[in-house]
Amino acid sequence: MEPRAAPTATLSPEAAQALADVYARVDREIRSMGATCWLRGRCCDFETAEHVLFASSAEIAFVRAAHAERFAPHGVLCPFWKDGLCAERERRPLGCRTYFCDPAYSDRVASIHERYHREICALADRFGIEYRYEPFVAALRGGSNADAAGVELWRRDDVRPDARERGDVDDADQNDA
Ligand code: SF4
Repeated sequence: MEPRAAPTATLSPEAAQALADVYARVDREIRSMGATCWLRGRCCDFETAEHVLFASSAEIAFVRAAHAERFAPHGVLCPFWKDGLCAERERRPLGCRTYFCDPAYSDRVASIHERYHREICALADRFGIEYRYEPFVAALRGGSNADAAGVELWRRDDVRPDARERGDVDDADQNDA
């Protein structure tokens, strides 16, 4: 039997606005660092990069609010990855915003990621959104590739204090893809 995805949470308009505000601050802070994306698009190519992007349930709900369509259930590529670029920059999750393949920024983006991830956890609490931390693509596609990849679902108690938690990323620049 096909694994079933956990039901997607829904966000109130207030919760959605609060999350959009968090993302706006993340983006400002990242920009102020002067980090540059080389737009190689490799970071989002999960088929070849062999990493998994994680996102919280509130973030997945934020994306889903604009994309009620069904995505093909199989495959590890993000459905928003089009010709190497991101087709959903406005709603892309924190992990997509805080990764740069330039190692010069690793520590700083790790710190930024950790801080905002905790803020999103608090936001979920404040708006009564059940917290889950799960593979983003699998959550969009229906859960099958999470199991196929053998990845572990991370819960709040397991929040890892570095930016790689967003996807166990090892080579990419998906924040600006
Ligand atoms: S930046 Fe994130 S949402 Fe956009 S294509 Fe890449 S993985 Fe998907």
